[in-house]
Amino acid sequence: MSLQSRSVPPQAQSLVEQLPEEWELLLHEWSEPRYRALQIFRWIYQRGVLNPEQMTDLPKRLRDKLAEAGLAPPATVAKTQDSADGTKKLLIELADGKQVETVLIPRGSVAAEDLFAGDGDDETAESRATDSQGVTQCISSQVGCAMGCAFCASGIAGLKRQMSAGEIVSQVLLGRATLEGSARLAGVVFMGMGEPLHNYDALARAIRLISHPDGLGMSLRRLTVSTSGLVPEIDRLARDFSGQVQLAVSLHAADTDTRTRLMPVNKKYPLSELLAAVRRYPVPRRRRLTIEYTLVRGLNDTELAAKNLARTLHGLRAKVNLIPMNPVAGVSLAAPDEATVERFQQILRDEGIDTFLRRRRGDDIAAACGQLALHGEARKVRTSERV
Ligand code: SAH
Ligand code: SF4
Repeated sequence: MSLQSRSVPPQAQSLVEQLPEEWELLLHEWSEPRYRALQIFRWIYQRGVLNPEQMTDLPKRLRDKLAEAGLAPPATVAKTQDSADGTKKLLIELADGKQVETVLIPRGSVAAEDLFAGDGDDETAESRATDSQGVTQCISSQVGCAMGCAFCASGIAGLKRQMSAGEIVSQVLLGRATLEGSARLAGVVFMGMGEPLHNYDALARAIRLISHPDGLGMSLRRLTVSTSGLVPEIDRLARDFSGQVQLAVSLHAADTDTRTRLMPVNKKYPLSELLAAVRRYPVPRRRRLTIEYTLVRGLNDTELAAKNLARTLHGLRAKVNLIPMNPVAGVSLAAPDEATVERFQQILRDEGIDTFLRRRRGDDIAAACGQLALHGEARKVRTSERV
């Protein structure tokens, strides 16, 4: 690796998102003992306590200093919505009043079967057993999204602002705090609102915080980053985390014209360059990439499209998740009929491609991960269009 290609992580934007070594530097400046660094980090990430007043084993002097320096929760839960199968959606409010959503999906729920079919290739029977209490959390990485995909509510609303690493990780802390009984967090997927690789520095820091052994301690392999295909950042992710973070690529079409129509990002990073980046992503042994393919009626659902996709993926260690498009208010695109979806899946399977159907049932929450809409904002867009 050349020196130029090594990325230098930027500084933390707030105290909440500091890693232990950064706490050590700050505490040194404050003439406080070094061991306090881990103490504070563990309060935040192991116990979910972000209010210095509640860090009872710290001296009052230090608690006051932390509060003065601005250590405080960057987000709160504005609303919780429970579904019958155990899936839970949280509306998260950030300090400036902007809102994002996160969804907690228990393994074994209908939504989880849809989302994670074919995952966990290298899991042992033991880890599968503990995973039955496991919950996967789908989190947002931006308020809105700049990528403008034709079928996506977040894309239509546009990018409102980036999220900081502290805000991104807060979703996990707030989500974990809602778990009951023996439920525990088994995985985090960046498939909520936003394009995680368009907010790379915050994403990378969030990954470091979530995976830090003195924090949430989740292994990198339990984290999935879903991207519309930002080539340089796919390479950065590969380099920074040695391919340990699970990559999901939203392909949606294997021919240039259709992909550009559905996803403007294809003009910047054409299919050939994206596929090259995907092929060089260092997928660990016994793991595979995920290719996401949202089926849109009359656009990318033909037999020819399926054959083309199979040819494109030939030789790639990947599974395909087919997602019949969820309806989006104000958008005329729709999912194909059931028979077309099944034929598409069958063609891929006949060509030897492992393919799973994420049958969103259109109910409020199972449909949510992957299209956590800016509900209020989307309405505003439509109103202003009418003016
Ligand atoms: N921006 C990233 C991650 C968030 S979107 C990405 O695009 O990959 C997560 C997944 O939900 C993507 O595969 C996206 O294409 C899909 N998605 C978005 N809107 C959808 C809709 N209306 N119906 C079905 N899938 C949708
Ligand atoms: Fe952004 Fe992903 Fe939606 Fe495309 S599908 S607009 S990249 S959130």
